[in-house]
Amino acid sequence: MKIICIGRNYAAHAAELKNDIPDEPVVFLKPDTARLKNGETFYIPSFTKDVHYEAELLVRINRMGKFIDEAFAHKYYDEVSVGIDFTARDVQSVLKSKGLPWERAKAFDGSAGIGEWVSLEVLNKPIDQLTFSLEKNGERVQHGQTSQMLFGVNTLIANISRFITLKVGDVIFTGTPAGVSSVKRTDILTCFLEGRQVFTCKVD
Ligand code: ZN
Repeated sequence: MKIICIGRNYAAHAAELKNDIPDEPVVFLKPDTARLKNGETFYIPSFTKDVHYEAELLVRINRMGKFIDEAFAHKYYDEVSVGIDFTARDVQSVLKSKGLPWERAKAFDGSAGIGEWVSLEVLNKPIDQLTFSLEKNGERVQHGQTSQMLFGVNTLIANISRFITLKVGDVIFTGTPAGVSSVKRTDILTCFLEGRQVFTCKVD
């Protein structure tokens, strides 16, 4: 499986990092070794002093496709979750200033927290009407509504599949809303999808 991530997909988050609103989705990848399962510990890597959490709605691809038409994109997923795109912000800032790729800041082991999958049938809501949130040590620090995405899930699938074949089990991180900040040792991060807890991890 591969992990495909979208950057700057919420206007308020783009603004908090002083980034422009993109004309088309900002896409980057994480390898399968980045996966952090629900309940596992997130270890802060030694090469960074400033890891940020980014809570994001996740979509799991359930059939192979390329050049997917936006009108049929909904046939390529039936489960969603919430996860965390852990980002070494200090490393990313240096890479960005040099115009270099972000992998050292975004693709390290354990950098992709992936929650338990929930079927859209169970949620019984359209993909663009979902809410999700992140609590740090029991306090809500991020809240997202998929209606606020600059590029919705079906648009993303159509756009990504123009240049990357999507395969069963691939996961799309659809971007984070405002409220990102640093983590420290002993923090407990917990993600909710429509009020259901789907992911938790301890930071060490
Ligand atoms: Zn992100």
